[in-house]
Amino acid sequence: MADQVFWKRKTLQEMSQTEWESLCDGCGKCCLQKLEDEDDGMVYYTRVVCRYMTDDCRCSEYQNRHELVPNCVWLRPEDVENFFWLPSTCAYRILAEGRDLPLWHPLVSGDPHLIHAVNISVSHMDLVADDQVPEDDWQNYVIDNV
Ligand code: SF4
Ligand code: SF4
Repeated sequence: MADQVFWKRKTLQEMSQTEWESLCDGCGKCCLQKLEDEDDGMVYYTRVVCRYMTDDCRCSEYQNRHELVPNCVWLRPEDVENFFWLPSTCAYRILAEGRDLPLWHPLVSGDPHLIHAVNISVSHMDLVADDQVPEDDWQNYVIDNV
């Protein structure tokens, strides 16, 4: 048990801050703008992306992101039960659902670039920045499940 990797040995709530942060694979999918159906609560992803995302799926305003973008995603262990809306490839959702991390995940592969090479990240997508498209038009940019 002790020689198991931490994501198999610990629950999401038991992880240290460093372990928790290392789960993020840098895919950038949670920085895509989302639309919620008010009737059934379904969440639809769009290819409209936060204006602060860089070409390599990083945040150019990481330190100030919550001040600049009020709806910037902030994942916390106490919210695990609400992770259903996250992309199906997101490590936080994967572990919350009791699944194992995939082979392309940086913690498994040891290669942070692999996620781009296998098209799991948004780097291959035809994205538009959210300051280039009126919010009323975001519905025209809805994409299939991410
Ligand atoms: S969707 Fe999950 S793994 Fe991808 S960038 Fe967001 S938090 Fe990280
Ligand atoms: S501000 Fe938030 S949503 Fe925007 S790129 Fe940074 S982390 Fe993503």
